[in-house]
Order: sequence, then structure tokens, then C-alpha cells
Amino acid sequence: MNAFAVLQQVAAQVADCERCMLHHSRKRAVPGDGPPDAELMFIGEGPGFHENEQGLPFVGAAGKFLDELLASIGQQRRQVFITNVVKCRPPGNRDPQSDELQACDDFLQRQIEAINPKVIITLGRFSMQRFLPNAKISQVHGKAVRVNGRLVCPMYHPAAALHQPSLRSSVEADFAALPGLIAQADAAPDFTAAAPEKNSGGQDPEQLSLF
Ligand code: URA
Repeated sequence: MNAFAVLQQVAAQVADCERCMLHHSRKRAVPGDGPPDAELMFIGEGPGFHENEQGLPFVGAAGKFLDELLASIGQQRRQVFITNVVKCRPPGNRDPQSDELQACDDFLQRQIEAINPKVIITLGRFSMQRFLPNAKISQVHGKAVRVNGRLVCPMYHPAAALHQPSLRSSVEADFAALPGLIAQADAAPDFTAAAPEKNSGGQDPEQLSLF
């Protein structure tokens, strides 16, 4: 199956999914959006109010800021793939729970494998923890790390950055470094075929190497 077909299949399955309780309160599932050959994949936390209404990721205030950040590095939303660790809105925008994260993970995994992005940018703590379970975002944001062969760059969540000026300048600086990261990714050997895909979730610092 080609990448486009995989993404369509995942989106259809997400729309019908009843693997966790979040399906009871969702209006629209939000599988993710973007081209199957995107070089950059952004992974946020979960749909909020507006995303739940529209079925699209990052369409509220945080999404507007994300668009501005993308523009600052000469990228447009239609060039990148944007998704979340959970595809349905947690009621009242509460944090996603571990059973919900687990139930949704197969969808995310298949999206990553299909798109095979050059760089995965995690937005916020929950998305970072999916790849770097023991990391502290204040210590690792903006630093690219190889996780099972994939370049992962954790960043603060745009919604948090909107409300805290110090985080805003951090996220702006981290974005400014992304083009350099993409260029380095081009130069680096591609390990993706050889490496097992999923982070074991354990505490294996040797799995990771600073890029
Ligand atoms: N916040 C997220 O983490 N994801 C969205 O899609 C919107 C807001």
C-alpha cells in the first residue's frame, strides 16, 4: 500500500474508532492532515474545541501560531504533516490518559512509517514522552535526537508558548534552527530501514544519540 493509501486507511479507522472512551464525547475525530511525502511531521497532544468541531488539527489559536512559526522558516501548512498523539478530544481539554495514548498509538505509528519524515517535531510534553519517556522538555527542547533511527526534535507546545513569553522565544528559536536540522538530516545516513521502529518506552539512553 502506498503512503497516501495508508493515511487514508488510518483516517477511516480513526473516524470509526471505539478503542478508548474518547469516542463517546468526540464530535469529529482528528486523524491528522498533510501530504504523504511531508519532510516535517509535527505531533501535538490532542484535538481541542475547534479541532473537534472541524476534524482538522491545530485550527485554533495554537494553530494560528503554528502557521506563523512555519512561515518564519519559509514553510506552509500544506507542506507539512500535522497530527496528535490522541486523535479525539479529551473532554474539557484535559491531559490524555495512558490507556488513551496506548489505544491511539498504532494509528500514529502507521502514519510515521507511511510518511517517513526527515524530522519529527514533538509539540509539548505528551508527544515528547512518546519518543523520550524520561526527558524533561526544559532540558531537551530544540535538540534533535535519534530515536530508533528517526530524527526527533522536541519543542514546547505552541499553546503554552502563546501564554508564556519565555517559552515563546524558545519555540521561535527552536523553529529558526529547523532548516539547519533538515539540511543535516539530508547529509546523515538513513538508518530507518535497519532500525526497529518503536521506542521501547524503557530507560535506554544508549538508544538515543544527540544529533
Ligand atoms: N493542541 C494540540 O495539541 N493539538 C491540536 O490539534 C490542537 C491544539
